[in-house]
Amino acid sequence: MLRWIGIIAALAWPLASFSQDDPDPFADSTTELGNGAYVFGNFSARSMIWVGEDGVIVSDPTSTRHARALRDAVAALTDQPIRYVIYSHQHWDHSLGGQIFKDDGAVFVSHQACIKHWQRHPHDELVMPDVTVETGGRISVTGQTIQLRYHGPNHGDCMLVMQADGSDVLYVSDLVTPFSLGLGFMPDYDPVEWIRTLKELEADPGWQRMVGAHGSAPAPRDALAQRRRYLEALMVAVRKGMDQGKRLDDLYGSVELPEEFHSLRGYDTQLARAAERIYYYYLMGW
Ligand SMILES: [Zn+2]
Repeated sequence: MLRWIGIIAALAWPLASFSQDDPDPFADSTTELGNGAYVFGNFSARSMIWVGEDGVIVSDPTSTRHARALRDAVAALTDQPIRYVIYSHQHWDHSLGGQIFKDDGAVFVSHQACIKHWQRHPHDELVMPDVTVETGGRISVTGQTIQLRYHGPNHGDCMLVMQADGSDVLYVSDLVTPFSLGLGFMPDYDPVEWIRTLKELEADPGWQRMVGAHGSAPAPRDALAQRRRYLEALMVAVRKGMDQGKRLDDLYGSVELPEEFHSLRGYDTQLARAAERIYYYYLMGW
């Protein structure tokens, strides 16, 4: 359901080690995904671009720098204007920098639940949305319709998953950083609801590739399933440690996951912080 509203609201990304053979993972690039869809950005921040016949839809301006580069990337693809900017969720490392698109007349879209966060925590570089959705919605230009899916709380409480009609690519923003732990400890992530959301997405056969807002892109379906398995294994490991009488200080550095996860980026640096979030989940009931 779409609702017009009459208002008028940086995380340091953990650097992973990369092979010297890799191209610079922090250099911006545009990757074509088919059906008029592209992913733009670098390992730190990625936005989707969907090119239609009379306009363009993009996700997550991210920052003033990224938004300028995104606008240039769109201009290199098409003369059509950017008509919609869709926020995946409220975190500032996704939602800032959109003013240049607003100045060009773009309509901004988010989930309704993001509004309260931005009202409480306004930011000079944040453009408040013109349109919000609650149960989900669709945003269209001629030749491109983007489904906005809402799966309830997971990574925060206003995450929108996006997929264009006719495309096999699912944009999941921070729900999955492929083959990486991402930022280990986000206070507003709900591990149980996050696992539920990932299972719902896994059960949907209507997509084959996924794009996250950070990390490598695009990634295969198993990147999403692996993220779910990682969260489940993390919960099991922390629960086990707590059942053995370990407190937080003891858990730090002693949580270990099955071999499958040892090669994930950030395993050595982020795991303790992720375990801390799970520790508090079991201790506080949330
Ligand atoms: Zn986030």
